[in-house]
Amino acid sequence: MAYKITSECISCGACAAECPVNAISQGDTTYVIDADSCIDCGNCSSVCPVGAPVAE
Ligand code: SF4
Ligand code: SF4
Repeated sequence: MAYKITSECISCGACAAECPVNAISQGDTTYVIDADSCIDCGNCSSVCPVGAPVAE
């Protein structure tokens, strides 16, 4: 299990600052989550203004 960022992402960067394992980085059109690093804490989903990170 890992979180994934959907196309709703507006690239605000809030989630990357709150990820405890630095699994989130800026991608081409949205921020992206490294599924191998994600520990499923849910912080990114909590802080995202548009609900883009979702649990897979
Ligand atoms: Fe990082 Fe937690 Fe979001 Fe995974 S669920 S990407 S560990 S903030
Ligand atoms: Fe995208 Fe939400 Fe992360 Fe902002 S907090 S970069 S909108 S996923």
